[in-house]
Amino acid sequence: MDRYFETILKVVFPNSCVLCGRTISAFSLLCEECEAKLFRGPIPLVEKTKWCEVYFYGRYESLLRDVILAYKNGGHWRLRKILARAIFETMSRYSTSFDVLTWVPSSFKALEERGFDTMEMIAKVVSKNIHTKCVSLIESAAPSTKRGLTRQQRRESVRGMFVLKAKPRGIVALIDDVYTTGATINECSKLLLQAGAEKVIAYCIAKA
Ligand SMILES: [Zn+2]
Repeated sequence: MDRYFETILKVVFPNSCVLCGRTISAFSLLCEECEAKLFRGPIPLVEKTKWCEVYFYGRYESLLRDVILAYKNGGHWRLRKILARAIFETMSRYSTSFDVLTWVPSSFKALEERGFDTMEMIAKVVSKNIHTKCVSLIESAAPSTKRGLTRQQRRESVRGMFVLKAKPRGIVALIDDVYTTGATINECSKLLLQAGAEKVIAYCIAKA
């Protein structure tokens, strides 16, 4: 880019790296150093559960953790592109193939607070990169359905219960941000398989 034009851009649209605060060009998302540090994944780790196999981009720590939190809680929605790249690189690394792409939906509460579904935004970017359809197959159950639950049950369904929105076909790629106990991924995979999915492959940005 023309250096003069870039200087003007920096003055008119000041932009800084969300992770370290360095001044960056108007169109950048992170500084080069943070981006290089961040993109060292995917980690060679596969988890096979009763319902699916799970691949991870990295550990839920340092810069990866910061970038996820900045995206989810800091209002830096442009970072969806960075997180989509993490998912995309994980998919490429394992060269797995699937027929449709879907995501773990945000809870009702999170949707109300943020006004958008964090994983849906990432899924849309990934979908464009890999030229595979992304379909909303699962949604969070309405809060009213949780009223009858015991305290124990409610604790177990931290992010809410899920219901099927559309019938899955073939092999489904399911994406999510942070994998902790695997309860969420397993619950969603089970739903998809019971509704007719041939197989579920999960891709998570980080493993806690
Ligand atoms: Zn930086």
